[in-house]
Amino acid sequence: MDQERQGIDLESDVVVIGGGPAGSTAATLLAGRGLRVQVFERERFPRFHIGESLIPETYWVLERLGMLSKMRASRFVKKHSVQFVNARGKLSAPFYFFDNKPHECSQTWQVVRSEFDQMMLDNAREHGARVHEGVRVVDVTFDGERASGVTIQFDGGRRHDVKAKVVVDASGQNGLLQQRFRLRVWDPILNKGAIWTYWKGAYRDTGRDEGATMVIQTPNRKGWFWYIPLHDDLVSVGVVAPFDYLFKGRTDREGTYREEVERCPAVQDRVSRATRATGYFATKDYSYRSTRVAGDGWVLVGDAFGFLDPLYSSGVLLALKSGELAADAIVEGLAAGDVSAAQLGKWGPLFNQGMDRMRRLVCEYYEGFSFGAFVRQYPHLRGTVTDLLIGDLFTDRVDQVWGPMETLHEPGKAPFPQWDAGAPADGVEDKANELILPEGHKP
Ligand SMILES: Cc1cc2nc3c(=O)[nH]c(=O)nc-3n(C[C@H](O)[C@H](O)[C@H](O)COP(=O)(O)OP(=O)(O)OC[C@H]3O[C@@H](n4cnc5c(N)ncnc54)[C@H](O)[C@@H]3O)c2cc1C
Repeated sequence: MDQERQGIDLESDVVVIGGGPAGSTAATLLAGRGLRVQVFERERFPRFHIGESLIPETYWVLERLGMLSKMRASRFVKKHSVQFVNARGKLSAPFYFFDNKPHECSQTWQVVRSEFDQMMLDNAREHGARVHEGVRVVDVTFDGERASGVTIQFDGGRRHDVKAKVVVDASGQNGLLQQRFRLRVWDPILNKGAIWTYWKGAYRDTGRDEGATMVIQTPNRKGWFWYIPLHDDLVSVGVVAPFDYLFKGRTDREGTYREEVERCPAVQDRVSRATRATGYFATKDYSYRSTRVAGDGWVLVGDAFGFLDPLYSSGVLLALKSGELAADAIVEGLAAGDVSAAQLGKWGPLFNQGMDRMRRLVCEYYEGFSFGAFVRQYPHLRGTVTDLLIGDLFTDRVDQVWGPMETLHEPGKAPFPQWDAGAPADGVEDKANELILPEGHKP
């Protein structure tokens, strides 16, 4: 056997493409059920990733994964609430998760993703998954219509085929199978970009507010800042706004970021005595979803299925949840000898509904929705709207908020278009999501 292929089985029950949170969740649960699972991750961990703020509903998946004790022992900052600052600089009362749900799950974490993703992937290894870093999947192989495995490529360029009964695509925004089958549909209205950096010594609240996520609207209402306190005295501060506003006809990333901070006293005041710890990162963040969640022998999870605007920090929850639901469908399917699209994707409708609810809340915010005004007018719905903020998305109980929210709309406002009213990615040449790292920053 050649050196680089050592440790790789040319056959397994399940192959997982990508070792981010979605892939490691699926791999952990599948290996924990005694299946032969291999994960192929093209990078070598730890690697940089954005997506640092967790929301409370991640608790239940983390519990199933056996991750809770590791999270408690970690240095990650504890997050108890989210707080909004409006365009006039007015601070809402914090939405304390515990007041809504007095349970341990109401405390979550602000994570440094290189560390969190490493912990998740190591956890998958501990549960029996074989994880291969620095190995890229270049294609999914098919036997007729059914996925039969993947073609992997090592750093040196050598390729091998690996057979599998099921292929889980957890390749993040790359969306290997989404591209192959042209499944991606760009959201018709969520077309944002982001620029961010990390500050040392920036303002931090104390006590249970120390780890709060702040969502700070820019004074011109074009966008918002995230303010996420991390460990080692770092704070992640990013501005999100329509792509054209942020990147067209402006200077460079640094100039645009500085202008936006200068225009926003609520951010300016918080970072005025801090020093910048890194250069400037940027992303194009067009939201998208896939028209299918599965095919025969394959299933999509996490960002490889869909990506939603980061306003409410729902990405890791959606990655964990889809990884969990897909793993359960695979276990059941393999036991019954059924790896059809219907079996592997049976969780798709429920998941899409949950994502729709979070998307609706995102769209409301961009149309001027104010949490403060809403709970003043509908105090009995404070708990339900907090349920949405914690990520309790997969129940129709929360749908009672939409009617009252509509009463706050401008008269005659048209309903929000659905995500699938957007253009298929295939036909849109100049649209692509990408991450731009500061010069010299290792991926
Ligand atoms: C600006 C911004 C801010 C965000 N903020 C938040 C936040 O505060 N909270 C939150 O929860 N979410 C946030 N998100 C979303 C979050 O980053 C993602 O939803 C989450 O990382 C998805 O996890 P994943 O496992 O699906 O994909 P990823 O974490 O991207 O993992 C995919 C993995 O697949 C690997 N891979 C890709 N292609 C291949 C291949 N061909 N072969 C092998 N490996 C491959 C990649 O190297 C990567 O490690 C934010 C996103 C953006 C853009």
